[in-house]
Amino acid sequence: MPTSTESAYPGLSGADAASPTVVEARMLCKVYGTGGARVTALDHVSLAVSRGQFVAVMGPSGSGKSTLLHCLAGLDTPDAGSVFIAGEDLAGMSDRQLTAVRRDRLGFVFQAFNLLPQLTAEENILLPLRLAHRKPEQDWYDAVIDSLGIGDRLGHRPSELSGGQQQRVAVARALVGRPEVVFADEPTGALDSASAASLLETLARMCEVLGQTVVMVTHDENAAEATNRIVRLRDGRIVGDDVLARPTGQHAAPAAAVQGVR
Ligand code: ADP
Repeated sequence: MPTSTESAYPGLSGADAASPTVVEARMLCKVYGTGGARVTALDHVSLAVSRGQFVAVMGPSGSGKSTLLHCLAGLDTPDAGSVFIAGEDLAGMSDRQLTAVRRDRLGFVFQAFNLLPQLTAEENILLPLRLAHRKPEQDWYDAVIDSLGIGDRLGHRPSELSGGQQQRVAVARALVGRPEVVFADEPTGALDSASAASLLETLARMCEVLGQTVVMVTHDENAAEATNRIVRLRDGRIVGDDVLARPTGQHAAPAAAVQGVR
């Protein structure tokens, strides 16, 4: 059922009923080291993520979360198995093709905000597109800035922003190219708990309203409150995969949580 917020962004639909698969891993295996130092980081991991899903990948330290994220994002190569982004197999792509996929079709958010201090928020957000000689789609740009609640911060430099605001700028930078999927590695790790909860609510809202897909590695137990799927890893295997009470497209964050930038 369309929400009232959807109509504010004509042409930008939320997760649709068909929810096509955006990211798919098939039987991923990854082993580090040899002999006594041999570690199985991924042990036949299969996963399919639908458009508009907000997936938290959780598990103890060393369970394979980062390795999985890096393999899904084409930043690392599995020893066996395949990764498909929007149906395209990453295996067999040249470095140049992988770079193009990462640049044009994926977004990244890390624990460290990685903003350039001498650029304004807006210049930071637009930098990846400028480097790719692309222009932002105005409707999408406006919807992203609006959803993140940073419209009045665009002229500020990172040093003039709070941690929560800086991470929102980093999220906008990841989203502005309208990627198939955003991969986030501990995006709330450097934030206080209130800013972290607010950011998670906003990401959830963007998945619902804009149909954005997010796969996030996190230790943040608040993730369960905001995401609509939690995949749990242990010893390189998926030991839990819970679709939560807020199915894709039915997330109902209060508007105040979306606007509440800290
Ligand atoms: P998590 O993100 O859940 O903490 P990782 O994916 O980082 O787990 O690591 C999974 C396992 O693989 C761990 O035992 C880790 O020590 C090992 N590992 C990860 N990267 C490397 C590497 N580059 N060299 C050797 N071992 C690694």
